[in-house]
Amino acid sequence: MEPRTSFKVLVVHCDTGRSEVKANWSVDELVGGSGLAAGLFAAYARPDAPWDHPDQPLIFAIGPLTGYFPLMSKVVCAFVSPYHGQYAESHAGGRLALALRFAGYEALVLLGRAKGRSALAVGPHRVELKDAHYLWGMDALATGKAMRRVFPGAEGHRSILRIGPAAENGLAYGCINVDTFRHFGRLGAGTVMAAKNLKAIVVQGEESQEIPEGKAYPDLFRKIYRDLTATPMMSKYHDLGTPQNVIPLNELKSLPWRNMTATSDPGASGISGERFAEKLLLRNTACSGCPVGCIHVGMLRKQFADEHQFAYYKVAYDHELVFSVGSMLGVTEASDVLDIIDEIEKQGMDAISAGVALAWATEALQRGVVGQAETIELLSFGQAEVYRRAMAHLGGAANDFYRALGQGTLAATKIYGGGDFACVLGQEMAGYATGEAFFTSMGLGLRHSHLDSGGYAYDQGNEVKDIAKAVGYLVKDERLRCLLTSMVACLFSRSVYKEEVLADCLNVLGYAGLARDLAGAGERVQKSRWKLRFDWGYDPGKVSLPKRFGEIVTWRGPMDADYQQGLRAAYARAIADLGKGGGQGG
Ligand code: SF4
Repeated sequence: MEPRTSFKVLVVHCDTGRSEVKANWSVDELVGGSGLAAGLFAAYARPDAPWDHPDQPLIFAIGPLTGYFPLMSKVVCAFVSPYHGQYAESHAGGRLALALRFAGYEALVLLGRAKGRSALAVGPHRVELKDAHYLWGMDALATGKAMRRVFPGAEGHRSILRIGPAAENGLAYGCINVDTFRHFGRLGAGTVMAAKNLKAIVVQGEESQEIPEGKAYPDLFRKIYRDLTATPMMSKYHDLGTPQNVIPLNELKSLPWRNMTATSDPGASGISGERFAEKLLLRNTACSGCPVGCIHVGMLRKQFADEHQFAYYKVAYDHELVFSVGSMLGVTEASDVLDIIDEIEKQGMDAISAGVALAWATEALQRGVVGQAETIELLSFGQAEVYRRAMAHLGGAANDFYRALGQGTLAATKIYGGGDFACVLGQEMAGYATGEAFFTSMGLGLRHSHLDSGGYAYDQGNEVKDIAKAVGYLVKDERLRCLLTSMVACLFSRSVYKEEVLADCLNVLGYAGLARDLAGAGERVQKSRWKLRFDWGYDPGKVSLPKRFGEIVTWRGPMDADYQQGLRAAYARAIADLGKGGGQGG
C-alpha cells in the first residue's frame, strides 16, 4: 500500500452539478480532519461575504487513520456559522467517515447553491444532483427514510445526511442529521446546507481499500482493539453511556437545573443513566468502525387518542440531551425526555441550544420579560408536553419571538431583555456547571464546545485557584485534542490514542514524516484554527459571561468573580497568541 502524500478532495459545484477531484493538499502539512478542514476553509471561504453566500464552502473531512483503526470514526465539518458569522467546526460519527473512505476521498467540499431544492449523491464514480423539492418541509427522520428509496444501495457503507424544517426556516442552530442517531449539531451546519438548497446528501462508499502488507498492521490493530475494549472507557460508555454522568454531577452540585437556578435536585434519579437503562433502553448501536457502541437508543411508547393503540419510536439519548431537555427544563421523567428529543430530531435542531433556549424563555415568562403572546405556550418547568409543542414552534419559527430565539438566546435577549439569566457560553451551554475553568473554556473556546478542552474535568479535580496552571492545562489539552480530531478519532478513545500510539499507527501506514512530527502537527493545527477564528473577526473581549454564571454554587462553594475574571483575561491572551502564530492554508 502506497501512503498518500496529498489528500484526495472532491469539490462539487452545487449550482452546476460539476465536480472535480483535487489532490494538492499535503498530508504532512494539514494532517487531516480538523487541520485539513481548516486548510480547505482558508482556501475556499470568503471573509468578505456572509455565511449564506453561495461561494461559502461546506466541508467534510476525514483523516489518514480513518477506516484503518478502531474508533477512527468521526468527520469534521467546517463552515461559516450562521450563529456567529465566523469559522466553525462541528464533528459527527455514524457511517459517514467510512463512507467517505470507501468512496475514495478524504474530503468533500460543497460550493455554490443548487438551482432548485435538491438531494446530492456522491460516490467513487458518481456525483448526482436530484430534484427534491417535494422533500422540503419534511421532518429530518422521515427524510432519511425517503432518501433510502431515492438513492438505493448497499447500506453498510452508505451514509445519509439530511436536514429538517429548522434549518430550512433559517434557525442559527439547524443541525445535520447523520444516519439517524448522530449529528453535526452545533453552530448551524444544517442551516448552511439549507442555504445550498440541499435537503440531503448521500455518500456511497462502494470501493475497497488497500491495507498494508505484512504482520505489523494486523498486530497493531489487534493491540489497539484489545486496549480499547479492555479499558474502563469501554464499559463506561457502553453500559450506561454518557448519562451515567447525571448522578455524579448532581451530587457534585454541577448539574444545571431549571435554567441553572440550581445545580442539584432530587429529581436527578428520574433521568439518570440507570433509570434510562432500566426502563427504556432498547439497544446500543455504534458508529462504523467502533467496537464500543456508546449510542443508547431508547424505546418511546405513545398512546393514540382512542386509548387502545400505541406507537413506538426509537430515540437516542445521551448526557447532553438529558441535561438540555431534562434537568434544564425541570423534566424529571425519562420517557418525557425521550418525547421532547423526538420532536427536536424531527425539527432537525441542535438539541443543546433548543433546550437551553427554552429554559431561558421559561424564566423570561416567569419574570414577565416576555408574555404568553410571545411564547404561545404557558412554559413552565417540568411540563414536558408543553415543551414538546414549544419545540415545534421553535423549529417552525412560529412567530417573531421564536424566530428571534432561533437566532440564539442572546439574540432574543437583545430584543426582549433578560440577558442576565441567559445560559450562554459563546452558544447555549453544555451540561456542566462545574465552575470557572469550564465557563472560560466553553465561553471563549474555538468551537464554544464542552469538547474543546477538558475545563469541566479541571474544575472537578482542582480546588486550588491557580490561573497560570488552569490556562496551561486548557491550551495543552486543546492541542492534544486537535491531534485526535485531525486523525479523526472519537474523543472517547483519548486514553488509548496517546501520541506514541498515533505515531505507531501512522508509521505502519507509511506516514513516517507525520509520525516523526506529531507534536509539531498538533501545534500547527491548533494555531491554524485560531488564526482562522481571529482572521474572521473573533474578539474574545466581546464574549459575555452572563450574570447567572457568577450566581451558582458548586461543591467548591460560590463562584469566585476575581478568579473567573483573571482566568478569562489570561485565556484570552493565550488564544490571541496562538492566533498570531498560525499560518497554514491552501
Ligand atoms: S464511542 Fe460512541 S460516539 Fe465514539 S465512535 Fe463509538 S459509537 Fe461513535
